Amino acid sequence: MSLAFPVPVRPAIVAPPMVEETLSADERVALKSRIKTLMQQQDAVLVAHYYTHADLQDLAEETGGCVSDSLEMARFAHAHPARTLIVAGVKFMGETSKILNPEKRVLMPDLAADCSLDLACPADAFTAFCDAHPDRLSVVYANTSAAVKARADWVVTSGIAVKIVKYLHSQGHKLLWAPDRHLGDYVQRVTGADMLLWQGSCVVHEAFKAEALKKLRAEHPGAAVLVHPESPEAVIAQADVVGSTTQLIHAVHDLPNREFIVATDNGIFHKMRAAAPGKILLEAPTAGEGATCQSCAHCPWMAMNGLKNLARVLETGANEIHIEASIRAKARLSIQRMLDFAIAEKAGRIQLGD
Ligand code: SF4
Repeated sequence: MSLAFPVPVRPAIVAPPMVEETLSADERVALKSRIKTLMQQQDAVLVAHYYTHADLQDLAEETGGCVSDSLEMARFAHAHPARTLIVAGVKFMGETSKILNPEKRVLMPDLAADCSLDLACPADAFTAFCDAHPDRLSVVYANTSAAVKARADWVVTSGIAVKIVKYLHSQGHKLLWAPDRHLGDYVQRVTGADMLLWQGSCVVHEAFKAEALKKLRAEHPGAAVLVHPESPEAVIAQADVVGSTTQLIHAVHDLPNREFIVATDNGIFHKMRAAAPGKILLEAPTAGEGATCQSCAHCPWMAMNGLKNLARVLETGANEIHIEASIRAKARLSIQRMLDFAIAEKAGRIQLGD
């Protein structure tokens, strides 16, 4: 296929070093107690991603918040009456919460908590890509900045990407996809849609190794393999279940297998263990031939969230998310299309066919 505008070369994103908070048991108890008091005083609720530290996930649930994927975090925050939202996750999650909840104060433990997909897709380059292909609708993954969402026609999450692309394809649309090349490739294979793919990748999922996974499967023949679709094709090809974080947690609970090999960030194990106590969870391998593992199954940006910096933002009001009004309004439209689609599809008003 010849392109009027070349698909961007693979951006070289270097992950920051992994620095995880280490606290004594007493420090953790004291910090959690202090945070709970501050949250009450400030009418705040905590929403945490599955990949964040177990302390934050527990704190979110103990204080009436939620632990979920990025879309559900924003939805929960929208429905919750609290005036302050604390988003433990990465920057685009805080931005999505602000886009859907402009009247609320949105704070994050660390604004440097980014994402290799977001970083790989700067808004000006993405705009040039769209401008070069006016005949195509642009579909972007949730892991993008507010400015990229504002330029896109549709936003999708991994849980709904296949359905939306299948629908757009059935309507005769050709598509641009950004930023995750593996997820885009997977969606293209499943739907048969005509898609031009941006070349970003997730440093965590890209590191899973197909050959080493084959060996691990041979050692655990009864294990079900659960794979997030940001992983390479040869890893996805070995999956029993391919799905979003929420779908993978459901799979651990629902499938009869005793063992699971899991190809996504190992922060999710905390929720999987709670959902299916007694089941054995194995990390999909990131080592082996060609290993360039920067993160080894744990996101260094997610690891920037901790109890100490959470307490600090509540004490100081630092790290508030602000988004320029016109960008926020446009980004809201492309997110709203996805939300409306999800409601219509659930209600049976959209037929997706085979
Ligand atoms: S796990 Fe991957 S996709 Fe998720 S925030 Fe980290 S770098 Fe981004």
